[in-house]
Amino acid sequence: MKKIVMKFGGSSVANGEKIRHVANLITDNRTEDCGIVTTVSALEGVTNQLIQIAKEAKNGKRDFISKFTNELLERHLTVAKVAIKNKQTREETEQVLKERIGELEIILKGIGYVNELSPKSMDNVIAYGEKLSAPIISGALNDKGVKSTHLTGGEVGIVTDNNYGEAGLLMQVTKYQVRRRLEPLLKEGHSPVVTGFIAATQNGETTTLGRGGSDYTATILGASLEADEVWIWTDVDGLMTADPKIVSSAKTITEMSFQEATELTIFGAKAMHPRALEPARKEGIPVRIRSVFNPDNQGTLITKEKKVRHEDGVKAVTLVKNVAVITVSGAGMVGAPGTAAKVFEVLGKENINILMISQSVSESNISLVIQRNLLERAVNTLEIALLGRDFIREVVSEDDVCVVAVLGAGMKGMPGVASRIFSAVAKESINVRMIAQGSSELNVSFVVKEKNGANTVRAIHKEFKLNEK
Ligand code: ASP
Ligand code: MG
Repeated sequence: MKKIVMKFGGSSVANGEKIRHVANLITDNRTEDCGIVTTVSALEGVTNQLIQIAKEAKNGKRDFISKFTNELLERHLTVAKVAIKNKQTREETEQVLKERIGELEIILKGIGYVNELSPKSMDNVIAYGEKLSAPIISGALNDKGVKSTHLTGGEVGIVTDNNYGEAGLLMQVTKYQVRRRLEPLLKEGHSPVVTGFIAATQNGETTTLGRGGSDYTATILGASLEADEVWIWTDVDGLMTADPKIVSSAKTITEMSFQEATELTIFGAKAMHPRALEPARKEGIPVRIRSVFNPDNQGTLITKEKKVRHEDGVKAVTLVKNVAVITVSGAGMVGAPGTAAKVFEVLGKENINILMISQSVSESNISLVIQRNLLERAVNTLEIALLGRDFIREVVSEDDVCVVAVLGAGMKGMPGVASRIFSAVAKESINVRMIAQGSSELNVSFVVKEKNGANTVRAIHKEFKLNEK
């Protein structure tokens, strides 16, 4: 039997009509010998609302809680009314929604009374987004005559450690349990709907996989079931050669390797949760990103490395905004082992993630790119830790910059790509402030002034004729 895992995000299940559309997409692709497991996010905006109310509850604002849960119930009941026509099916779903909202209210009030919101309690609260959406999507399938059950991530057997808020997956147990729970259902012709984003510890305590975690749920399920494909349904046609808001002729990339797609998602294409590709890559399960608005389009297929073709060369160019550059310099750094280590250690202790690094061979300075909102903290920490030492003279920063990343596995070992990139940029009279290339050669990243970011992306898109791919 063929197996496909599908994931629908919050914007695809924002209201009742959209959920009916989702149910159609599932049934259109379901056949006797192709079972479909679906995983869904919370209705659009709900996770953020839950985070908000949990914080307010902690600050003792208990009066708001019932109003909030009533409104949340109303919204879900309205959505269910549109999504599920059959009276009995709808009433069953309504019953589940009411019970779950009741539990949520008790948890929130508990937080309000003890004025304490641990990461564990937070996970308990935010899990309700998906615990409320999944029953509706499952009900909508029942409504169309498809046998369907809804299960939480914990019920389906996704097991994690207890790092609440960003839990680490225990793949071996997960795989075993997910197969045991889902395979019989598929064999009986069921089309199960699993809550995205949430999982459980080995003791059954609710955890979450980090924001945007439903993508990750999809590939966890896909890898566990050794599915034929995982389909991430979204509102764009797939991964693109550039942001279409910057380059109007940007194209959907039809095929990419896991490695390339990982680079692309790390460098800002908002399409996916950063860890989402891991389980699929390990098991070699193809992942397809496709649009709910355009189901005839096959989207982007992410698969295992094939032979790298140089003619594919550059595949995409992206812009990373809201970053800043810090340069640490001083003649005393030359030939002084440990300077770079010290810089990284200081930032690492402050939990400041470094996006890009470059050091000239003269060793008299090191430049780093970090997220802009961390700049002040980073500079302060570096100054306090380093300036007293004689080998470092100054720490300077620039916050009006952006990173342009040029990606593609075909660049590997192909001479001349860098020169084409930088000639194209030079032709626009744009100054390049800092350059880095990972030795994987999958990407070339560089820093330009923020005001030049969009023009740089357009120049490179044009130079490599990405609109003709
Ligand atoms: N609902 C969760 C979030 O908003 C998970 C997801 O949407 O994938 O982060
Ligand atoms: Mg979401």
